[in-house]
Amino acid sequence: MSAIARALRRRSSSPSLPAATFFSRFVSNSIQIKTSLLHISPPQHYLSIYSFIYTRLLLYDQINTLVLGEHENGFVKPSSLNAVSAAKAIGEDNSVSLLLAGSGPELRDAASRAASSHPSISQVLVADSDVLKHPLAEPWAELVHLVQKKCGYSYIVSASSSFGKNVLPRAAALLDVSPITDVTEILEPRLFIRPIYAGNALCTVRYTGANPCMLTIRPTSFSLPHNADTTSDAASISQVDLSTFTEDTLGKSTWLNNTSQNTERPDLGNANIVVTGGRGLKSAENFKLLEKLAEKLGAAVGATRAAVDAEFVPNDLQVGQTGKIVAPQLYMAFGVSGAIQHLAGMRDSKVIVAINKDADAPIFQVADYGLVADLFKVIPEMLEKIPEK
Ligand SMILES: Cc1cc2nc3c(=O)[nH]c(=O)nc-3n(C[C@H](O)[C@H](O)[C@H](O)COP(=O)(O)OP(=O)(O)OC[C@H]3O[C@@H](n4cnc5c(N)ncnc54)[C@H](O)[C@@H]3O)c2cc1C
Repeated sequence: MSAIARALRRRSSSPSLPAATFFSRFVSNSIQIKTSLLHISPPQHYLSIYSFIYTRLLLYDQINTLVLGEHENGFVKPSSLNAVSAAKAIGEDNSVSLLLAGSGPELRDAASRAASSHPSISQVLVADSDVLKHPLAEPWAELVHLVQKKCGYSYIVSASSSFGKNVLPRAAALLDVSPITDVTEILEPRLFIRPIYAGNALCTVRYTGANPCMLTIRPTSFSLPHNADTTSDAASISQVDLSTFTEDTLGKSTWLNNTSQNTERPDLGNANIVVTGGRGLKSAENFKLLEKLAEKLGAAVGATRAAVDAEFVPNDLQVGQTGKIVAPQLYMAFGVSGAIQHLAGMRDSKVIVAINKDADAPIFQVADYGLVADLFKVIPEMLEKIPEK
């Protein structure tokens, strides 16, 4: 309702715009409405017209977007920069603010690097508090609520990472709106594509709710501009006023520790090459073969859920519907059958190579190159033939 009120206020401040012209501006070009009138009953009909006009009025407003930023060791995570690219895809005139929270020098370093990390960032908002030192969902959701109440963003976007999937729905509940998750394409400012049925179908969703429109986006679907890694003009950095920050929900969850693989290999979510092992590897010991191959190729190691469930590798290596979504330049699958839940996490890879001893394995249907062979012969041969880095 507030958007309608704002737009009406704007109209009344420009008396030269008659009411008929004002409304026709939003509805006259609507083949969609005219067509839908033929098929729907009067009450639905009014609802449709209302929702259409409402969406148009929202679009008429200036777009501004808050992107929730994750950072680690003083650097903003690449997936948050992908979220900035998604925000820019909403509209060219979109003003994008990146929100970073935490405390101490790491936060300050991340903020100053973030300011010139993506040409579409207009400002970096910094929430500096010990309460926000760790990325726990409850205080973060309160923070998003607070920032939204002060600044009134039209969109709030986060990467579809564990962090985003944890924080964004809570913040959406506090703001009483329904989030749209896992967006892979932005067709219009309020029209999105997202996968359903483990990526087997794509669903087109129109958001007709109130502001803010809240999205999690798949980082692999929104690439960084070519100049993102060179220095772009630094955006302004502002502190968030936390004097009214309520800590009601604090204590509901507690930060215990952060465990990560002590490895020189690239991060699975951002690696250019991923070598994945499935149940066909047969043991944790055999996975070491794959790790050696990964080291030679400068690749990240991934795994299927079957391999994780069998405790060959830890679950942070799982690729798929309930694991990580990856889209590297080269994805090599060893002893992986190609179940739909696994394909959901890797089918956007640029080149897919499958090695499986079963010629009928479904993985060959998505593979660019397939080798019907025993992986225990193929991997040692590759290790022998690939030169040391
Ligand atoms: C709700 C839900 C969510 C799920 N989420 C995920 C997910 O996120 N990620 C995921 O991966 N799975 C997920 N799964 C599980 C998924 O359905 C499959 O069970 C799993 O992906 C199978 O893993 P796999 O290919 O390693 O094992 P298998 O299906 O057992 O395949 C092993 C393959 O190895 C081949 N093989 C065996 N020995 C050799 C050899 N010596 N040389 C070459 N090839 C060999 C076999 O021919 C076979 O094709 C999910 C399932 C459900 C129900």
